[in-house]
Amino acid sequence: MKTLDELYHQMLRQAADGKPVDVDGDPKLIDCLAHPDDHPLIWRVKPCVCPPDEKRPCQEACSWGAIKPSPDGKGMIIDDAECVGCQACVDACKLESLKTSKDIIPVVQELHDYDGPVYALVAPAISGQFGPNVTMGKMRTALKHLGFTGMLEVAVFADILTMKEALEFDKNVHTEEQFQLTSCCCPMWIAMIKKLYHQLLPNVPGSVSPMIAGGRTVKALHPNAKTVFIGPCLAKKAERKEPDIAGAIDYVLTYQELRDLFSVTNLDLEKMEEENVPHASSSGIGYACAGGVADAVAMTVAQLDPDRKVPIKTRKADGVPGCKAMINDILAGNRDGNFFEGMGCIGGCVGGPRAIIKKEEGKACVQAYGQEAQSRTPVENPYVIELLKHLGFATVEEFLEKSDLFDRHFD
Ligand code: SF4
Ligand code: SF4
Repeated sequence: MKTLDELYHQMLRQAADGKPVDVDGDPKLIDCLAHPDDHPLIWRVKPCVCPPDEKRPCQEACSWGAIKPSPDGKGMIIDDAECVGCQACVDACKLESLKTSKDIIPVVQELHDYDGPVYALVAPAISGQFGPNVTMGKMRTALKHLGFTGMLEVAVFADILTMKEALEFDKNVHTEEQFQLTSCCCPMWIAMIKKLYHQLLPNVPGSVSPMIAGGRTVKALHPNAKTVFIGPCLAKKAERKEPDIAGAIDYVLTYQELRDLFSVTNLDLEKMEEENVPHASSSGIGYACAGGVADAVAMTVAQLDPDRKVPIKTRKADGVPGCKAMINDILAGNRDGNFFEGMGCIGGCVGGPRAIIKKEEGKACVQAYGQEAQSRTPVENPYVIELLKHLGFATVEEFLEKSDLFDRHFD
């Protein structure tokens, strides 16, 4: 019987060649690859064989209560509604019985068959992931060769959300006792607060992530468009399906899935032409690294009100244990800050589970790309205003007051 990986590569090649997918193998695995939305985020590729009276490594690894014994007591089931896509269970299962969902085959089919626009939205951690000489301009051309209508940098939407968080901070924090937790960017951080530290939700402004902001903006401007987010993150695959924000993003690919597609299509990325569209500020690009959100918001708050009576003081944590330790400090009253950023992965998104290069290398590439940016913050970024004008708003403030495009309501 063919393994999941063998079926994946065979089906991906057929889809990339524009042929109908037609392979022999386990029908359940083939259906997972062909129709990932009909299946949970984590796929079981082998039966569970851990003795029922022992602690299961997958269940022990899951901090979110998503893995439960099956009704017959012989195996484990994963509750997709509770799963945040952290991948801890996949790493914990030494028999490699669990695999993570892949969206690439339906995306390639959309690129061949869909008669409307299909946009790629690339996460800020993309710098350097496909080689040191593959610039953002070459990546844009390569994605168009694959059939995408265009490529947008999600860092632009990070800029708008930086502004939103900075204005929220300005509105809400006026005394030494008040504080704000970022709502931006990382679904693991948000899941942690929603599921484990619910009492802190009032301190989280109701904002969508830059990914959802990007998807909603594309669909506001091009209602028939399909949106494909491309990043280093598995948790984003779970985030896009959350009921209150579903519909903004149609597919989430990882850098590794995109690399597999480049590999079967034999595109030489380094030889692509440059198609540069300078957009994001260096602080929007910096969202890819731990501390990037806090630095961006701090700089923007300082620019908006340099004489603020209660200045912004940031604290940041990365990795689930680090985030939990910081939150426990907040709850114990040891705050030492009034703006808190948490990122689920060590190093931030450059350390995401489906990054291609090491996090230190990724961080250096992100920083080098950030230095090329023409602005440091969203306040200085003329493209942010231009984009909002396309949406019918004269200023960021007007947009934030009158539009609910970037809002979400946590319960
Ligand atoms: S991916 Fe994470 S949240 Fe989902 S079942 Fe596995 S350990 Fe739990
Ligand atoms: S820090 Fe990790 S979990 Fe959070 S958005 Fe980035 S890659 Fe995803």
